[in-house]
Amino acid sequence: MKVIKFGGSSLADAVQIRKVCDIIISDPERRVVVVSAPGKGVNDPVKVTDMLISAANAALENGSEAGLQAMETVIERYAHIAHDLGVSEVMEDIAPDFRARMALDRSNPVKFTDAVKAAGEDNSARLTAAYLRKLGCSARYVNPGDAGMYLSDDFGNAQILPQSYTLLSESLSAMDGIIVFPGFFGITESGETVTFPRGGSDITGAILAAALNADVYENFTDVDYVYSANPHHIKNPKPIPLVTYREMRELSYAGFNVYQEEALLPVYRAGIPVNIRNANNPSCPGTLIVSERGAANQDVRVAGVACDKGFTGIYVNKYLMNREIGFGRKLLQIFEDEGISYEHTPTGIDDLTIIARSEFFENGTLSRIVARISDELGTDDIQIHEGLSLIVVVGEGMKHAVGIAAKATKALSDAGVSISMISQGSSEVSMIFAVDTDDAIRGVTALYDALLA
Ligand code: ASP
Repeated sequence: MKVIKFGGSSLADAVQIRKVCDIIISDPERRVVVVSAPGKGVNDPVKVTDMLISAANAALENGSEAGLQAMETVIERYAHIAHDLGVSEVMEDIAPDFRARMALDRSNPVKFTDAVKAAGEDNSARLTAAYLRKLGCSARYVNPGDAGMYLSDDFGNAQILPQSYTLLSESLSAMDGIIVFPGFFGITESGETVTFPRGGSDITGAILAAALNADVYENFTDVDYVYSANPHHIKNPKPIPLVTYREMRELSYAGFNVYQEEALLPVYRAGIPVNIRNANNPSCPGTLIVSERGAANQDVRVAGVACDKGFTGIYVNKYLMNREIGFGRKLLQIFEDEGISYEHTPTGIDDLTIIARSEFFENGTLSRIVARISDELGTDDIQIHEGLSLIVVVGEGMKHAVGIAAKATKALSDAGVSISMISQGSSEVSMIFAVDTDDAIRGVTALYDALLA
């Protein structure tokens, strides 16, 4: 059987939902369907999830009446779709559900916002199931809480709890017909609604595919393939027909947002292939994410070039740093105390740079950290490098090839891009270059031309 997930753009309006249901019905193995909330559509410039966040904020700032008023626009959007699909009666369940969420306790704003946000997916599943039934299918909406989707109580950033896999497997395997399951949320052990990070419906689909040991997890979005570079940076980049989990993880890390980066873990552990496909072009085979490249794909050295901006480097120098036991631990402790997760730590003999996302250093955090490093570690020099981008060259095959780093650095040098940091992990699945953000696109283009064109 297949678990199949549709993103927001595939569910944005009635035209899209008809396409989605045709895809579901065309293959009887498509038994479990995960849906996002309606996203941006031809006539709808705003994603439902963003509309719901605004409604939650309106309620938090100006009371439940203001929230209810904002919610009416969301209800209208669903009513419009339901009408176009000829299933207006489903609004008898959907409209009260949206309104009821505005009456929930608002004393914990993140908890309240999660309960409101989750309504987008929840009602998208009710709507899709109703339309499938109208088409004559046996289809049911399944509530994640009832099915055993237990998550940690990190509101807006939840993680799956281990017992969920068995609970989901037991409850869903016992059901017949097509299961329509809302993505993006679950419940805490105390029964509260909690969401994954944004884009989290991909995670729901991956969890269900792993729990049910699906043959494949089909993830339908609005592009034919994952491409070897961002089409906003490179014109007509090459499609990637096959990619490994590790390569995809590296590409997602550095800005390929076709598939939520946390959504690889459940399928990776269970060894279930993921097929990224286009709901607007279902005959295209799309990109397959697998654990190993088969013999036919062994010669692929570089799979793609990705780039992400918004990093800051903190360079620390101290004479005889290499001899000082505990220096690294004390330095990293300062970052831990500030709740900062760092990305890279390239080192020299007497120096070390910590690279982290710039958003962590706002509101005086940077100067606080610099003062602590200087006071507590007695350093000789600290320099801050803001506005960094990371360019990541990804490919498992680089391990077996000689000269990729030479080609890459030559391409960057020919393009006049100065490299602030180079890092290659021992897995050799990726090579990372930190460059000034002003040079980043030029760098990506040079690397793509040298390694992929
Ligand atoms: N609707 C949620 C979002 O916009 C989750 C998802 O679509 O995957 O982030």
